[in-house]
Amino acid sequence: MTHTKEVKNFIAGKFVRNGQASMDVLSPLDGTIISTLPLSGAKELEEAVLAAEEAYISWSQLTLKDRVQIFFKYRQLLEANMDELSKLVQLENGKTYSEAKAEVMKSMELCEFAVSMPQIVTNEIQEVSRGVECRIERKPLGVVACITPFNFPNMVPHWTVPNALVLGNTVILKPSELVPLSAIRMAELLQEAGLPDGVLNIVNGGKEIVEAICDHPRIKATSFVGSTHVAKIVYKRASSNLQRCVALGGAKNHLLVLPDANPEMTANNVVASMAGCAGQRCMAASVMVGVDKVQHIIDKMVDEANAIVPGDNLGSVISKEAKERIERYISEAEAQGAKILVDGRNHIVEGKENGFYVGPTIIDHVKPDMAVAKEEIFGPVISIIRAKDLDEAIKIENSSNYGNAAAVFTQSGSLAKRVMEKASAGMIGVNIGVPVPREPFSFGGWNESKFGVGDITGKSSIEFWTQNKKTTTKWNAEDKRDWMS
Ligand code: NAD
Repeated sequence: MTHTKEVKNFIAGKFVRNGQASMDVLSPLDGTIISTLPLSGAKELEEAVLAAEEAYISWSQLTLKDRVQIFFKYRQLLEANMDELSKLVQLENGKTYSEAKAEVMKSMELCEFAVSMPQIVTNEIQEVSRGVECRIERKPLGVVACITPFNFPNMVPHWTVPNALVLGNTVILKPSELVPLSAIRMAELLQEAGLPDGVLNIVNGGKEIVEAICDHPRIKATSFVGSTHVAKIVYKRASSNLQRCVALGGAKNHLLVLPDANPEMTANNVVASMAGCAGQRCMAASVMVGVDKVQHIIDKMVDEANAIVPGDNLGSVISKEAKERIERYISEAEAQGAKILVDGRNHIVEGKENGFYVGPTIIDHVKPDMAVAKEEIFGPVISIIRAKDLDEAIKIENSSNYGNAAAVFTQSGSLAKRVMEKASAGMIGVNIGVPVPREPFSFGGWNESKFGVGDITGKSSIEFWTQNKKTTTKWNAEDKRDWMS
């Protein structure tokens, strides 16, 4: 690892410090400054786009089979460097080591999907008229951009970058300014795997560089993952500049718990979903709708949550502001009459007094109109709303502006089926608290959790990162003519 103390932009295969200003990067584990970051703008972006355009000329001419060879090697490098990459994720994001390792393993799986593209992306051909053939080929778009959030510094860039590259595009990656280090390692390891200069470029910074990406006249497509507020800005701005855009936003995932659910499994899954990665997952459980008599399950959830120890099996949240925001939500709910069953406020971890820790929190008797029921908290907090029957529970789930994930816990196939059909979310779990579809299935929500057509990973991403070329050919002049030939 060579560039962690001072983050640099990665342009045309070189690390360059060319931003206008800089900001500190903190480790949320203990609040220490671990690096500084350049705040780039339109000038630095232009350099990156020029490098990507130059590299596109030869990269796009390689066959798919040639391009995936680099990702075979890169996947091996991820595995060989697993420990160091996991520690880096932990350092910059604050999650636990095992969560960080799971993230890197998921990145490997995403590479496995990317290298399978030659088996999936077969073109189409048909004799559409006597002696006349029509074929459709998938062609890359050109220079594309990927903008990523703080919560999965290693994995989320792997949702987009490998597929976009393997399909023949060249990429500008803009990582979250809060967690820029894993992206640097990605660039270093891809270079080691043989990625030619300029094929992947990284520009660091915040709002200014994101706006420059949306406004750039020669960037063909932009993928975004982050909060709904910014997803809307990026989607509108990039689309109005005629870029193709998919923008994934925030979430407020509802888990519907029925009285017949397996109590141990349900309590364990619900709490793991709300507290895993300190609740900073767009797939995290945020609202539990308890249908009818579920007190026995809630009691077990309280036991599960009490066994979680911040700084040990629960990581930190990303920043001081995030900790304050999460604790404010809890206090507001309490003031409005909700009951705090497990309270994670004011948590100090010994030896890491300046870290940003919030303990697991369970809030019961939440009303659907409270902020903790409607807004994304993005911390290890679950709000329990009581419902008299499944119809009422489904109505509560449907009323959310978001629609990333929803889950049902029950042993009844017919009740589960009702939720599968009626929930207004893109990813549904049945007795699963974090229903992330694994490759080749694609990832993406509904409603205000995603803007744009298609999903961001899996087979759906092939549509996003390519355009169809349709060629009609005729070679034999003697062929009998009909109206199309
Ligand atoms: P964020 O929206 O604050 O930041 C995402 C990216 O946008 C970053 O690269 C950041 O630099 C940039 N950005 C921030 N403010 C901007 C502005 N005003 N204008 C232009 N660009 C701006 O998100 P975050 O806090 O890094 O990540 C957490 C959010 O991401 C949560 O809402 C979470 O639900 C969401 N998320 C969603 C998914 C999904 O698949 N739907 C996955 C991961 C995270």
